[in-house]
Amino acid sequence: MQRFEELEQIQPVAVKMLKKMINHNRIAHAYLIHGDAGTKKRAIAETLALRLFCRETETAEPCLTCRNCKRVLSGNHPDLHWIKPDGLSIKKEQIEALQREFIYSGVESNRKVYVIEDADLMTVNASNRLLKFLEEPSQETTAILLTKNQQKLLDTIRSRCQVIALRPLSGKAIETALIESGITKENARIFQAIAPQLEEAKALDQDEWFAEARKLMVQLVGMLIDKPQEALLFIEKHWMQHFNDRDKLLLGLDLLLLWFKDLMYLHIGDTEHTVLLSYQAELERVSLRYTRKDLVVILSAITSAKQKLNQHTHPTLVMEQLTLQMQR
Ligand SMILES: [Zn+2]
Repeated sequence: MQRFEELEQIQPVAVKMLKKMINHNRIAHAYLIHGDAGTKKRAIAETLALRLFCRETETAEPCLTCRNCKRVLSGNHPDLHWIKPDGLSIKKEQIEALQREFIYSGVESNRKVYVIEDADLMTVNASNRLLKFLEEPSQETTAILLTKNQQKLLDTIRSRCQVIALRPLSGKAIETALIESGITKENARIFQAIAPQLEEAKALDQDEWFAEARKLMVQLVGMLIDKPQEALLFIEKHWMQHFNDRDKLLLGLDLLLLWFKDLMYLHIGDTEHTVLLSYQAELERVSLRYTRKDLVVILSAITSAKQKLNQHTHPTLVMEQLTLQMQR
């Protein structure tokens, strides 16, 4: 994705703003582009760099075919510097090396661009170095800082940048990104529904605790139908052991919400939105035991259990009450 036209589909506000600045020839000395994983920070930075170096364009888009564009695309443009964390941080030495490059004017023109990825990972010394650099901007130098955590940057750095906020990904976009990264469609739907950000969602896929949580949820919902008299004991012996703090309990409730929402989808004949794809048979089996009205009551009971947990009602009590409401 190296054209603003494509990026505009995903980040309309940010891209419109950049295009306007390009068209009015009002390029800032420094940009701070921030947004969650998957929001196209790097692609936007690269397109901006392409456009700044391109010599064959009359529009806001880079031509992508001239010599300059080709060198940016292949990572070989001598006046474009791309800084990434060295291990866990961006070190003072990296910023110093960058500054040495900038003592000389651009190899081919005076235009120079540097991109700092994960700019929040700059050490304090690196940040202070960069700040000095930003305080003495040269006419044709453009800095592009990228970050997921803009609040971790020094205020003094932030205030010297034109800040561009990228909007969070939609649920659908997160699902697609998860599937592209090798996660099964079912897990992608589950994670998308319970983890609001792409990186959190990816982490869940690697998490044994989560795999076990999912198993317990399926056991519980089966028990609500088949052995309701054992459900409370199960909550006490297994559920509360595994979901042993408030955040985990909330996640457990999210899993139950998914289950009962799927039952509701089955009732209304909407299979397109079902999440728990590998439990279709089980969902169909138990769906007959609940009326649509039951499901409405249960869904609202789960939501209110979440509220009670957030208001610090005793967790075991909340789960026991909910279990009685859910069983048949
Ligand atoms: Zn070009």
